[in-house]
Amino acid sequence: MHPDSADPVASYYSATVNDATVYPPLAGAVAADVCVLGGGYTGLNAAIELAQRGYDVVLLEARRIGWGASGRNGGQAIGGFADDARVAVRLGPAAAHSAWQLGLEGRAILLERIEHFRIACDYRPGYVAAALNRRQLEALRAEAAARAARGYPHPFRLLAGDALHEVIGSDLYAGGLVDDGDGHLHPLNLCRGEARAAASLGVRIHEHAAVTRIDRGPRLCIHTAQGQVSAAALVVAGNAYLDGLVPELRGLVLAAGSFIVATEPLSRARAAGLLPTAAAVSDGNTLLDYYRLSADRRLLFGGRCNFTGREPRNIAAALVPRMVRVFPQLAGARIDFAWGGKVAVSLNRIPQLGRIDGNMYYAQGYSGHGVVPSHLAGRLLAEVIAGDAGRFDVFARIAHRRLPGGPRVAGALLTLAMSWYRLRDLLGW
Ligand SMILES: Cc1cc2nc3c(=O)[nH]c(=O)nc-3n(C[C@H](O)[C@H](O)[C@H](O)COP(=O)(O)OP(=O)(O)OC[C@H]3O[C@@H](n4cnc5c(N)ncnc54)[C@H](O)[C@@H]3O)c2cc1C
Repeated sequence: MHPDSADPVASYYSATVNDATVYPPLAGAVAADVCVLGGGYTGLNAAIELAQRGYDVVLLEARRIGWGASGRNGGQAIGGFADDARVAVRLGPAAAHSAWQLGLEGRAILLERIEHFRIACDYRPGYVAAALNRRQLEALRAEAAARAARGYPHPFRLLAGDALHEVIGSDLYAGGLVDDGDGHLHPLNLCRGEARAAASLGVRIHEHAAVTRIDRGPRLCIHTAQGQVSAAALVVAGNAYLDGLVPELRGLVLAAGSFIVATEPLSRARAAGLLPTAAAVSDGNTLLDYYRLSADRRLLFGGRCNFTGREPRNIAAALVPRMVRVFPQLAGARIDFAWGGKVAVSLNRIPQLGRIDGNMYYAQGYSGHGVVPSHLAGRLLAEVIAGDAGRFDVFARIAHRRLPGGPRVAGALLTLAMSWYRLRDLLGW
């Protein structure tokens, strides 16, 4: 699936989606308390939280619910943020502690959604942060010590050397941090389940309803090709797919590409040889590889991230050698699906939450680690709209840089940044 393609047929997730509900396009003029742009986790969770607080909400999705990153991702549900250390440095000790707690709350919200709304999305606990070299292992050791000091509420353990074979059937790694608080799931089924939950709370959802114009003022008018929503507030949750609609958000995130292949279903024994506890894994590189077993025992292997957003000519040809480097035993396994999507990466890898003109609110830029934080962002967006800005402002206070220059300059800089990260990963810095 091309990151821009309208029809996500080639993804393993769209082939195994368990909720095919179609929501009608917007027709004519309607009014609401809040309009939400974007039918991914951020928009849906903001809508759920707002509806739970009694707001009348209309949600507009340009294509289908889960068409963006939320229906295509690696399914790794990991607490915290893309770069917790950097969040801590930017916020200082007191606010960093609040941010750490918010990172845990994001995961609790996700699990609560699955349980409360009975969302069948194959959630399975277990995640391993795998170290490719000694530097990465030392970083994990420091992370384990920090968790112990803070009273991390879930079981975790550091495994070094061969001990890691307990969870990963590969000789590639120096060790890993195993966390039973994190886990993995079917991302599109989660997203469609959350849409069903929002609709059950009265949220009016419209698909094929791309927002084309926003008339600003004390009462906003949000236009699609066939209708308008008049609302007191707007949540902008288009993330990497927003494409410049809101001038204030242009250049704040890079729309990077990330790609995934799914093997044929593996026998029980073969799957257990790869991942004996069926935990999800990602490595410690900046341009990382990530993988997990699906419920029907395919290996879903992702990576090959690039900052141009451009798709490799042949996704499987780009990813399979990386997969076989981790698991030589998978050489020759059939690849049934290959797809990609756009990841919104902020320059400092910290999520961006903020407000525009006092009645437009946004959350974006989870930097490849958005499954859990987008759930938290949904709650914080609802809180700020309901008049309680305290927790939203923990993040909204962080200043974010824009990509310098126009798209051409930015493109050249990104290529340079890519090469730098590749080199760093290669040398194990
Ligand atoms: C290949 C890939 C793998 C990833 N793997 C992981 C992972 O394993 N773990 C993890 O934590 N994170 C992962 N991520 C990141 C994660 O998926 C995202 O951070 C998260 O899904 C973002 O959710 P969102 O709702 O903000 O954005 P999206 O899910 O992208 O939703 C935005 C929606 O807005 C809609 N939209 C855009 N413009 C308009 C408009 N004008 N009008 C109406 N609608 C509009 C789009 O159609 C889209 O559906 C991955 C991402 C990708 C692409």
